[in-house]
Amino acid sequence: MNIESYFMEATYLVASILFILSLKGMSHPETARRGMFMAEAGMFAAIVGTLVGQHIVTWVWIISGLALGSIIGGWMAVTVPMTAMPQRTALSHAFGALAAALVGVGEFLVHASEMGVVTRGALGLEVMLGALTTTGSLIAAGKLQGVIGGKPIQFRGQNAVNLLIGVGMLGSFVFFWIHPEAVAVFYIMLGLAFVFGVMLVIPIGSADMPVVMSLLNSYAGLAAAATGFVLGNNVLIIAGTLDGFSGFILSVLMCKAMNRSITNVLFGGFGAVIAEASGDSDGVMREISLDDAAMQLAFASRVVFVPGYGLATAQAQHAVRELAELLEGRGVTVKYAIHPVAGRMPGHMNVLLAEANVPYAALYEMEQINPEFVSTDVAVVIGANDVVNPDARDNPKSLIAGMPILEVDRARSVIVLKRGQGRGFSGLENPLFFKACTTMLYGDARSSLSHLAKAVQQV
Ligand code: NAP
Repeated sequence: MNIESYFMEATYLVASILFILSLKGMSHPETARRGMFMAEAGMFAAIVGTLVGQHIVTWVWIISGLALGSIIGGWMAVTVPMTAMPQRTALSHAFGALAAALVGVGEFLVHASEMGVVTRGALGLEVMLGALTTTGSLIAAGKLQGVIGGKPIQFRGQNAVNLLIGVGMLGSFVFFWIHPEAVAVFYIMLGLAFVFGVMLVIPIGSADMPVVMSLLNSYAGLAAAATGFVLGNNVLIIAGTLDGFSGFILSVLMCKAMNRSITNVLFGGFGAVIAEASGDSDGVMREISLDDAAMQLAFASRVVFVPGYGLATAQAQHAVRELAELLEGRGVTVKYAIHPVAGRMPGHMNVLLAEANVPYAALYEMEQINPEFVSTDVAVVIGANDVVNPDARDNPKSLIAGMPILEVDRARSVIVLKRGQGRGFSGLENPLFFKACTTMLYGDARSSLSHLAKAVQQV
Protein backbone atom coordinates (compact mmCIF):
# COMPACT_ATOMS: atom_id res chain seq x y z
CA MET A 1 0.00 0.00 0.00
CA ASN A 2 1.27 3.48 -0.82
CA ILE A 3 0.91 6.57 1.36
CA GLU A 4 -2.30 7.67 -0.41
CA SER A 5 -3.95 4.33 0.29
CA TYR A 6 -2.99 4.53 3.98
CA PHE A 7 -4.44 8.04 4.12
CA MET A 8 -7.63 6.88 2.44
CA GLU A 9 -8.12 3.94 4.82
CA ALA A 10 -7.42 6.22 7.82
CA THR A 11 -10.03 8.76 6.66
CA TYR A 12 -12.50 5.91 6.07
CA LEU A 13 -11.97 4.73 9.63
CA VAL A 14 -12.50 8.25 10.98
CA ALA A 15 -15.59 8.67 8.76
CA SER A 16 -17.08 5.36 9.94
CA ILE A 17 -16.58 6.29 13.61
CA LEU A 18 -18.16 9.70 12.97
CA PHE A 19 -21.18 8.08 11.26
CA ILE A 20 -21.76 5.78 14.24
CA LEU A 21 -21.37 8.64 16.74
CA SER A 22 -23.69 10.82 14.63
CA LEU A 23 -26.47 8.21 14.83
CA LYS A 24 -25.98 8.08 18.58
CA GLY A 25 -26.15 11.90 18.73
CA MET A 26 -29.32 12.02 16.66
CA SER A 27 -31.12 9.72 19.07
CA HIS A 28 -31.78 12.67 21.43
CA PRO A 29 -32.98 16.19 20.56
CA GLU A 30 -30.35 17.79 22.77
CA THR A 31 -27.45 16.13 20.92
CA ALA A 32 -29.11 15.89 17.47
CA ARG A 33 -27.45 19.02 16.05
CA ARG A 34 -24.01 17.75 17.12
CA GLY A 35 -24.92 14.41 15.52
CA MET A 36 -25.65 16.15 12.23
CA PHE A 37 -22.29 17.97 12.32
CA MET A 38 -20.53 14.65 12.94
CA ALA A 39 -22.33 13.07 9.97
CA GLU A 40 -21.31 16.01 7.77
CA ALA A 41 -17.69 15.82 8.97
CA GLY A 42 -17.72 12.04 8.34
CA MET A 43 -19.00 12.51 4.81
CA PHE A 44 -16.40 15.22 4.17
CA ALA A 45 -13.63 12.90 5.42
CA ALA A 46 -14.91 10.07 3.20
CA ILE A 47 -14.96 12.32 0.11
CA VAL A 48 -11.47 13.73 0.77
CA GLY A 49 -10.10 10.24 1.46
CA THR A 50 -11.58 8.88 -1.78
CA LEU A 51 -10.29 11.78 -3.87
CA VAL A 52 -6.77 11.42 -2.47
CA GLY A 53 -6.64 7.63 -2.40
CA GLN A 54 -8.28 6.65 -5.67
CA HIS A 55 -6.88 7.00 -9.15
CA ILE A 56 -8.81 9.93 -10.61
CA VAL A 57 -9.30 9.72 -14.37
CA THR A 58 -10.39 13.32 -14.83
CA TRP A 59 -10.98 16.03 -12.24
CA VAL A 60 -13.24 18.03 -14.56
CA TRP A 61 -16.25 15.77 -14.01
CA ILE A 62 -15.63 15.45 -10.28
CA ILE A 63 -15.30 19.18 -9.66
CA SER A 64 -18.28 19.99 -11.90
CA GLY A 65 -20.40 17.35 -10.14
CA LEU A 66 -19.36 18.58 -6.69
CA ALA A 67 -20.08 22.19 -7.61
CA LEU A 68 -23.45 21.44 -9.20
CA GLY A 69 -24.53 19.10 -6.38
CA SER A 70 -23.47 21.61 -3.72
CA ILE A 71 -25.35 24.45 -5.41
CA ILE A 72 -28.57 22.42 -5.82
CA GLY A 73 -28.29 20.91 -2.32
CA GLY A 74 -27.58 24.30 -0.72
CA TRP A 75 -30.44 25.92 -2.60
CA MET A 76 -32.85 23.16 -1.51
CA ALA A 77 -31.71 23.36 2.12
CA VAL A 78 -32.35 27.10 2.22
CA THR A 79 -35.58 27.30 0.25
CA VAL A 80 -37.54 24.12 1.04
CA PRO A 81 -39.84 24.72 4.03
CA MET A 82 -39.75 22.33 7.00
CA THR A 83 -43.23 21.04 6.14
CA ALA A 84 -41.97 19.90 2.74
CA MET A 85 -38.98 18.09 4.25
CA PRO A 86 -40.43 14.56 3.72
CA GLN A 87 -40.71 15.03 -0.06
CA ARG A 88 -37.29 16.69 -0.18
CA THR A 89 -35.86 13.66 1.63
CA ALA A 90 -37.67 11.36 -0.82
CA LEU A 91 -35.96 13.19 -3.69
CA SER A 92 -32.56 12.75 -2.01
CA HIS A 93 -33.23 9.02 -1.67
CA ALA A 94 -34.23 8.85 -5.34
CA PHE A 95 -31.00 10.49 -6.50
CA GLY A 96 -28.81 8.54 -4.03
CA ALA A 97 -30.35 5.30 -5.23
CA LEU A 98 -30.04 6.32 -8.88
CA ALA A 99 -26.34 7.00 -8.29
CA ALA A 100 -25.91 3.52 -6.80
CA ALA A 101 -27.77 1.92 -9.73
CA LEU A 102 -25.72 3.87 -12.29
CA VAL A 103 -22.43 2.93 -10.62
CA GLY A 104 -23.62 -0.68 -10.84
CA VAL A 105 -24.46 -0.37 -14.55
CA GLY A 106 -21.05 1.28 -15.13
CA GLU A 107 -19.24 -1.54 -13.32
CA PHE A 108 -21.28 -4.08 -15.29
CA LEU A 109 -20.30 -2.50 -18.61
CA VAL A 110 -16.60 -2.39 -17.75
CA HIS A 111 -15.89 -5.36 -15.45
CA ALA A 112 -18.78 -7.88 -15.56
CA SER A 113 -16.79 -10.67 -17.22
CA GLU A 114 -13.89 -10.58 -14.75
CA MET A 115 -16.05 -10.34 -11.57
CA GLY A 116 -16.18 -13.11 -8.96
CA VAL A 117 -19.52 -14.67 -8.02
CA VAL A 118 -19.91 -12.71 -4.77
CA THR A 119 -19.14 -9.36 -6.39
CA ARG A 120 -21.51 -10.11 -9.24
CA GLY A 121 -24.28 -10.95 -6.77
CA ALA A 122 -23.63 -7.67 -4.94
CA LEU A 123 -23.70 -5.81 -8.27
CA GLY A 124 -27.08 -7.34 -9.17
CA LEU A 125 -28.48 -6.40 -5.74
CA GLU A 126 -27.09 -2.88 -6.02
CA VAL A 127 -28.68 -2.27 -9.43
CA MET A 128 -31.99 -3.89 -8.46
CA LEU A 129 -32.41 -2.12 -5.10
CA GLY A 130 -31.06 1.14 -6.51
CA ALA A 131 -33.50 1.12 -9.46
CA LEU A 132 -36.62 0.24 -7.46
CA THR A 133 -35.74 2.78 -4.78
CA THR A 134 -35.31 5.48 -7.44
CA THR A 135 -38.79 5.16 -8.93
CA GLY A 136 -40.41 4.30 -5.57
CA SER A 137 -38.95 7.45 -3.99
CA LEU A 138 -39.98 9.61 -6.95
CA ILE A 139 -43.57 8.38 -6.62
CA ALA A 140 -43.42 8.98 -2.84
CA ALA A 141 -42.13 12.54 -3.41
CA GLY A 142 -44.88 13.14 -5.99
CA LYS A 143 -47.59 11.92 -3.62
CA LEU A 144 -46.31 13.96 -0.70
CA GLN A 145 -46.04 17.09 -2.84
CA GLY A 146 -49.53 16.50 -4.23
CA VAL A 147 -48.28 16.21 -7.83
CA ILE A 148 -49.74 12.70 -7.87
CA GLY A 149 -53.01 12.09 -5.97
CA GLY A 150 -52.33 11.04 -2.37
CA LYS A 151 -55.04 8.33 -2.38
CA PRO A 152 -53.92 4.72 -2.80
CA ILE A 153 -54.09 3.61 -6.45
CA GLN A 154 -55.50 0.11 -6.46
CA PHE A 155 -56.91 -2.20 -9.12
CA ARG A 156 -58.18 -5.74 -9.37
CA GLY A 157 -55.41 -8.32 -9.44
CA GLN A 158 -52.81 -5.77 -8.31
CA ASN A 159 -51.08 -8.15 -5.91
CA ALA A 160 -50.84 -10.82 -8.64
CA VAL A 161 -49.35 -8.29 -11.10
CA ASN A 162 -46.87 -7.13 -8.45
CA LEU A 163 -45.95 -10.70 -7.66
CA LEU A 164 -45.34 -11.39 -11.36
CA ILE A 165 -43.10 -8.34 -11.74
CA GLY A 166 -41.28 -9.16 -8.49
CA VAL A 167 -40.68 -12.78 -9.52
CA GLY A 168 -39.57 -11.66 -13.00
CA MET A 169 -37.11 -9.20 -11.48
CA LEU A 170 -35.67 -11.69 -9.00
CA GLY A 171 -35.55 -14.40 -11.68
CA SER A 172 -33.57 -12.12 -14.02
CA PHE A 173 -31.26 -11.26 -11.13
CA VAL A 174 -30.51 -14.95 -10.43
CA PHE A 175 -30.08 -15.67 -14.16
CA PHE A 176 -27.64 -12.79 -14.55
CA TRP A 177 -25.79 -13.96 -11.46
CA ILE A 178 -25.23 -17.36 -13.01
CA HIS A 179 -24.73 -16.12 -16.60
CA PRO A 180 -22.92 -12.76 -16.60
CA GLU A 181 -22.72 -12.85 -20.40
CA ALA A 182 -26.54 -12.50 -20.60
CA VAL A 183 -26.47 -8.75 -21.11
CA ALA A 184 -30.13 -8.54 -22.14
CA VAL A 185 -31.27 -10.24 -18.91
CA PHE A 186 -29.32 -7.68 -16.88
CA TYR A 187 -31.21 -4.86 -18.58
CA ILE A 188 -34.54 -6.69 -18.19
CA MET A 189 -33.81 -6.89 -14.44
CA LEU A 190 -33.02 -3.17 -14.42
CA GLY A 191 -36.25 -2.30 -16.27
CA LEU A 192 -38.42 -4.54 -14.08
CA ALA A 193 -36.87 -3.02 -10.95
CA PHE A 194 -37.81 0.48 -12.13
CA VAL A 195 -41.39 -0.70 -12.74
CA PHE A 196 -41.50 -2.61 -9.43
CA GLY A 197 -40.58 0.58 -7.52
CA VAL A 198 -43.61 2.34 -9.02
CA MET A 199 -45.94 -0.60 -8.39
CA LEU A 200 -44.75 -0.93 -4.80
CA VAL A 201 -45.61 2.65 -3.87
CA ILE A 202 -48.75 3.56 -5.87
CA PRO A 203 -51.12 1.42 -3.74
CA ILE A 204 -50.00 3.22 -0.58
CA GLY A 205 -51.80 6.35 0.61
CA SER A 206 -49.86 9.52 1.37
CA ALA A 207 -50.65 9.14 5.10
CA ASP A 208 -48.31 6.16 5.13
CA MET A 209 -45.71 7.74 2.87
CA PRO A 210 -43.27 8.70 5.67
CA VAL A 211 -43.07 5.03 6.69
CA VAL A 212 -42.58 3.98 3.08
CA MET A 213 -39.85 6.56 2.68
CA SER A 214 -38.06 5.33 5.70
CA LEU A 215 -38.27 1.82 4.22
CA LEU A 216 -36.99 3.12 0.86
CA ASN A 217 -34.21 4.84 2.76
CA SER A 218 -33.32 1.45 4.11
CA TYR A 219 -33.23 -0.03 0.55
CA ALA A 220 -31.07 2.88 -0.65
CA GLY A 221 -28.67 2.14 2.24
CA LEU A 222 -28.50 -1.53 1.31
CA ALA A 223 -27.91 -0.58 -2.35
CA ALA A 224 -25.02 1.63 -1.19
CA ALA A 225 -23.61 -1.21 0.93
CA ALA A 226 -23.79 -3.51 -2.12
CA THR A 227 -21.97 -0.80 -4.13
CA GLY A 228 -19.29 -0.90 -1.43
CA PHE A 229 -18.82 -4.65 -2.02
CA VAL A 230 -18.62 -4.16 -5.79
CA LEU A 231 -16.06 -1.35 -5.53
CA GLY A 232 -14.21 -2.85 -2.55
CA ASN A 233 -14.96 0.35 -0.61
CA ASN A 234 -15.20 -0.18 3.17
CA VAL A 235 -16.74 3.16 4.09
CA LEU A 236 -19.61 2.59 1.62
CA ILE A 237 -20.26 -0.83 3.14
CA ILE A 238 -20.33 0.61 6.68
CA ALA A 239 -22.35 3.76 5.87
CA GLY A 240 -24.77 1.81 3.66
CA THR A 241 -25.37 -0.82 6.32
CA LEU A 242 -25.91 1.82 9.02
CA ASP A 243 -28.34 3.63 6.72
CA GLY A 244 -30.10 0.40 5.75
CA PHE A 245 -30.69 -0.82 9.27
CA SER A 246 -31.44 2.52 10.91
CA GLY A 247 -34.03 3.15 8.16
CA PHE A 248 -35.60 -0.23 8.83
CA ILE A 249 -35.68 0.30 12.62
CA LEU A 250 -37.24 3.75 12.09
CA SER A 251 -39.97 2.24 9.86
CA VAL A 252 -40.77 -0.31 12.55
CA LEU A 253 -40.89 2.37 15.27
CA MET A 254 -43.19 4.57 13.16
CA CYS A 255 -45.52 1.64 12.50
CA LYS A 256 -45.56 0.87 16.22
CA ALA A 257 -46.49 4.48 17.02
CA MET A 258 -49.43 4.18 14.60
CA ASN A 259 -50.32 0.66 15.78
CA ARG A 260 -49.84 -0.72 12.26
CA SER A 261 -47.75 -3.55 10.90
CA ILE A 262 -45.28 -3.07 8.02
CA THR A 263 -47.39 -5.48 5.92
CA ASN A 264 -50.50 -3.45 6.65
CA VAL A 265 -48.70 -0.27 5.55
CA LEU A 266 -47.38 -1.88 2.36
CA PHE A 267 -50.49 -3.79 1.33
CA GLY A 268 -53.31 -2.27 3.41
CA GLY A 269 -54.26 0.61 1.08
CA PHE A 270 -54.74 2.87 4.14
CA GLY A 271 -56.78 5.94 3.21
CA ALA A 272 -58.57 4.26 0.28
CA VAL A 273 -61.85 4.32 2.19
CA ILE A 274 -62.92 7.03 4.58
CA ALA A 275 -64.17 5.14 7.62
CA GLU A 276 -67.02 6.34 9.76
CA ALA A 277 -66.25 8.10 12.99
CA SER A 278 -68.08 7.19 16.18
CA GLY A 279 -71.58 8.59 16.84
CA ASP A 280 -70.50 11.76 18.68
CA SER A 281 -69.51 13.43 15.43
CA ASP A 282 -73.11 14.31 14.60
CA GLY A 283 -73.00 17.00 17.28
CA VAL A 284 -71.84 20.57 16.94
CA MET A 285 -68.52 22.19 17.48
CA ARG A 286 -68.62 25.00 20.02
CA GLU A 287 -66.59 28.08 19.19
CA ILE A 288 -64.80 30.03 21.91
CA SER A 289 -63.96 33.71 21.79
CA LEU A 290 -60.40 34.89 22.09
CA ASP A 291 -61.09 36.65 25.40
CA ASP A 292 -62.74 33.60 26.96
CA ALA A 293 -59.85 31.40 25.86
CA ALA A 294 -57.34 33.90 27.29
CA MET A 295 -59.27 33.97 30.61
CA GLN A 296 -59.19 30.18 30.86
CA LEU A 297 -55.45 30.13 30.25
CA ALA A 298 -54.59 33.05 32.51
CA PHE A 299 -56.44 31.55 35.49
CA ALA A 300 -55.36 27.94 34.98
CA SER A 301 -52.72 26.29 37.13
CA ARG A 302 -51.71 23.60 34.63
CA VAL A 303 -51.71 24.04 30.86
CA VAL A 304 -50.50 21.49 28.29
CA PHE A 305 -49.79 22.55 24.70
CA VAL A 306 -50.29 19.79 22.13
CA PRO A 307 -48.59 20.70 18.84
CA GLY A 308 -49.38 18.96 15.54
CA TYR A 309 -48.95 19.39 11.81
CA GLY A 310 -50.88 22.70 11.83
CA LEU A 311 -48.25 24.23 14.14
CA ALA A 312 -45.66 23.38 11.49
CA THR A 313 -47.64 24.80 8.56
CA ALA A 314 -48.43 27.96 10.52
CA GLN A 315 -44.80 28.22 11.75
CA ALA A 316 -46.31 28.93 15.17
CA GLN A 317 -43.45 27.58 17.28
CA HIS A 318 -42.19 31.02 18.38
CA ALA A 319 -45.73 32.25 19.10
CA VAL A 320 -46.46 29.26 21.35
CA ARG A 321 -43.22 29.77 23.28
CA GLU A 322 -44.06 33.44 23.81
CA LEU A 323 -47.54 32.57 25.10
CA ALA A 324 -46.07 29.86 27.35
CA GLU A 325 -43.58 32.34 28.84
CA LEU A 326 -46.38 34.81 29.54
CA LEU A 327 -48.39 32.13 31.32
CA GLU A 328 -45.36 30.94 33.29
CA GLY A 329 -44.82 34.53 34.35
CA ARG A 330 -48.29 34.35 35.91
CA GLY A 331 -47.41 31.17 37.80
CA VAL A 332 -49.04 28.69 35.39
CA THR A 333 -47.26 25.34 34.96
CA VAL A 334 -46.81 24.81 31.21
CA LYS A 335 -45.88 21.55 29.49
CA TYR A 336 -45.72 20.41 25.87
CA ALA A 337 -47.08 16.98 24.89
CA ILE A 338 -45.20 15.33 22.01
CA HIS A 339 -46.77 12.50 20.03
CA PRO A 340 -44.21 10.33 18.19
CA VAL A 341 -45.94 10.81 14.80
CA ALA A 342 -47.26 14.36 15.20
CA GLY A 343 -46.48 16.38 12.08
CA ARG A 344 -45.10 14.75 8.99
CA MET A 345 -41.79 13.25 10.00
CA PRO A 346 -40.27 11.71 13.11
CA GLY A 347 -39.13 14.36 15.58
CA HIS A 348 -40.96 17.11 13.62
CA MET A 349 -42.35 18.80 16.73
CA ASN A 350 -39.10 18.46 18.68
CA VAL A 351 -37.17 20.16 15.90
CA LEU A 352 -39.66 23.04 15.60
CA LEU A 353 -39.87 23.67 19.33
CA ALA A 354 -36.08 23.43 19.72
CA GLU A 355 -35.77 26.05 16.97
CA ALA A 356 -37.95 28.35 19.08
CA ASN A 357 -35.78 27.67 22.16
CA VAL A 358 -38.46 25.81 24.09
CA PRO A 359 -36.50 24.04 26.86
CA TYR A 360 -36.25 20.25 26.38
CA ALA A 361 -37.31 19.76 29.99
CA ALA A 362 -40.76 21.14 29.12
CA LEU A 363 -41.28 18.51 26.38
CA TYR A 364 -43.10 15.37 27.52
CA GLU A 365 -43.47 12.19 25.57
CA MET A 366 -46.88 10.55 25.21
CA GLU A 367 -46.37 7.92 27.92
CA GLN A 368 -45.19 10.58 30.39
CA ILE A 369 -47.91 13.14 29.77
CA ASN A 370 -51.01 10.97 29.31
CA PRO A 371 -51.48 10.26 33.04
CA GLU A 372 -51.21 14.03 33.68
CA PHE A 373 -54.16 15.11 31.51
CA VAL A 374 -56.72 14.35 34.26
CA SER A 375 -55.08 17.00 36.42
CA THR A 376 -54.66 19.46 33.53
CA ASP A 377 -56.89 22.54 33.52
CA VAL A 378 -56.53 23.41 29.85
CA ALA A 379 -55.11 21.32 27.00
CA VAL A 380 -54.43 23.56 23.99
CA VAL A 381 -54.40 21.54 20.77
CA ILE A 382 -52.44 23.48 18.15
CA GLY A 383 -53.08 22.17 14.64
CA ALA A 384 -53.11 18.55 15.83
CA ASN A 385 -55.91 16.21 14.82
CA ASP A 386 -55.20 12.49 14.29
CA VAL A 387 -52.84 12.27 17.25
CA VAL A 388 -55.61 13.44 19.62
CA ASN A 389 -58.47 11.49 17.98
CA PRO A 390 -60.24 9.53 20.78
CA ASP A 391 -61.73 7.19 18.16
CA ALA A 392 -58.35 5.48 18.00
CA ARG A 393 -58.94 4.46 21.62
CA ASP A 394 -62.74 4.13 21.75
CA ASN A 395 -63.93 3.00 18.31
CA PRO A 396 -62.63 -0.44 17.31
CA LYS A 397 -64.01 0.10 13.77
CA SER A 398 -61.93 3.22 13.21
CA LEU A 399 -59.13 3.04 10.64
CA ILE A 400 -56.75 4.26 13.31
CA ALA A 401 -58.12 1.97 16.06
CA GLY A 402 -55.36 1.06 18.46
CA MET A 403 -53.06 3.92 17.48
CA PRO A 404 -51.79 5.38 20.76
CA ILE A 405 -53.05 8.96 21.21
CA LEU A 406 -52.50 11.93 23.47
CA GLU A 407 -55.54 11.69 25.73
CA VAL A 408 -56.38 15.39 25.82
CA ASP A 409 -60.09 14.63 26.23
CA ARG A 410 -59.32 13.68 29.84
CA ALA A 411 -58.35 17.30 30.60
CA ARG A 412 -60.89 19.61 32.29
CA SER A 413 -61.03 21.81 29.22
CA VAL A 414 -59.69 21.49 25.67
CA ILE A 415 -59.16 24.43 23.32
CA VAL A 416 -58.52 23.40 19.71
CA LEU A 417 -56.72 25.87 17.45
CA LYS A 418 -57.40 25.17 13.77
CA ARG A 419 -58.53 27.09 10.71
CA GLY A 420 -61.87 25.37 10.02
CA GLN A 421 -63.34 21.93 9.46
CA GLY A 422 -60.18 20.48 7.87
CA ARG A 423 -59.45 16.85 8.66
CA GLY A 424 -56.15 15.34 9.65
CA PHE A 425 -53.85 13.38 7.41
CA SER A 426 -55.87 10.17 7.86
CA GLY A 427 -58.96 11.98 6.51
CA LEU A 428 -61.01 10.87 9.53
CA GLU A 429 -63.53 12.92 11.49
CA ASN A 430 -62.43 13.67 15.06
CA PRO A 431 -65.08 13.22 17.81
CA LEU A 432 -62.87 15.22 20.20
CA PHE A 433 -64.08 18.42 18.53
CA PHE A 434 -67.69 17.61 19.47
CA LYS A 435 -67.10 16.73 23.12
CA ALA A 436 -68.58 18.82 25.91
CA CYS A 437 -65.12 19.70 27.27
CA THR A 438 -63.91 20.99 23.88
CA THR A 439 -64.13 24.45 22.34
CA MET A 440 -62.76 25.61 19.00
CA LEU A 441 -60.66 28.72 18.41
CA TYR A 442 -60.67 29.14 14.64
CA GLY A 443 -57.87 30.77 12.68
CA ASP A 444 -54.29 30.25 11.60
CA ALA A 445 -52.43 28.84 14.60
CA ARG A 446 -49.74 31.53 14.62
CA SER A 447 -52.11 34.47 14.58
CA SER A 448 -54.44 32.78 17.12
CA LEU A 449 -51.51 32.28 19.50
CA SER A 450 -50.23 35.85 19.09
CA HIS A 451 -53.72 37.24 19.68
CA LEU A 452 -54.11 34.96 22.70
CA ALA A 453 -50.82 36.28 24.10
CA LYS A 454 -52.05 39.88 23.72
CA ALA A 455 -55.37 38.97 25.34
CA VAL A 456 -53.64 37.21 28.26
CA GLN A 457 -51.62 40.39 28.87
CA GLN A 458 -54.92 42.33 29.18
CA VAL A 459 -56.33 39.94 31.81
P1 NAP B 1 -53.05 16.05 11.29
O1 NAP B 1 -53.86 14.92 11.78
O2 NAP B 1 -52.53 15.98 9.91
O3 NAP B 1 -53.96 17.38 11.46
C1 NAP B 1 -53.47 18.63 11.20
C2 NAP B 1 -54.57 19.64 11.49
O4 NAP B 1 -53.93 20.91 11.47
C3 NAP B 1 -55.68 19.66 10.47
O5 NAP B 1 -56.86 19.16 11.03
C4 NAP B 1 -55.81 21.13 10.04
O6 NAP B 1 -57.16 21.57 10.22
C5 NAP B 1 -54.88 21.86 11.03
N1 NAP B 1 -54.12 22.94 10.39
C6 NAP B 1 -53.48 22.93 9.21
N2 NAP B 1 -52.88 24.10 8.97
C7 NAP B 1 -53.15 24.89 10.05
C8 NAP B 1 -52.81 26.21 10.40
N3 NAP B 1 -52.08 26.99 9.59
N4 NAP B 1 -53.24 26.69 11.59
C9 NAP B 1 -54.01 25.94 12.40
N5 NAP B 1 -54.35 24.66 12.12
C10 NAP B 1 -53.92 24.15 10.95
O7 NAP B 1 -51.82 16.33 12.24
P2 NAP B 1 -51.26 15.51 13.48
O8 NAP B 1 -52.30 15.43 14.56
O9 NAP B 1 -49.92 16.11 13.79
O10 NAP B 1 -51.08 14.02 12.95
C11 NAP B 1 -50.05 13.64 12.06
C12 NAP B 1 -50.58 12.65 11.04
O11 NAP B 1 -49.54 12.34 10.09
C13 NAP B 1 -51.02 11.33 11.66
O12 NAP B 1 -52.08 10.78 10.93
C14 NAP B 1 -49.79 10.48 11.50
O13 NAP B 1 -50.05 9.08 11.55
C15 NAP B 1 -49.35 10.92 10.12
N6 NAP B 1 -47.93 10.53 9.96
C16 NAP B 1 -46.97 11.20 10.61
C17 NAP B 1 -45.66 10.72 10.54
C18 NAP B 1 -44.55 11.37 11.28
O14 NAP B 1 -43.46 10.83 11.23
N7 NAP B 1 -44.76 12.45 11.99
C19 NAP B 1 -45.38 9.61 9.78
C20 NAP B 1 -46.41 8.97 9.12
C21 NAP B 1 -47.68 9.43 9.22
P3 NAP B 1 -57.69 22.87 9.42
O15 NAP B 1 -57.47 22.56 7.97
O16 NAP B 1 -59.13 22.97 9.80
O17 NAP B 1 -56.90 24.03 9.88
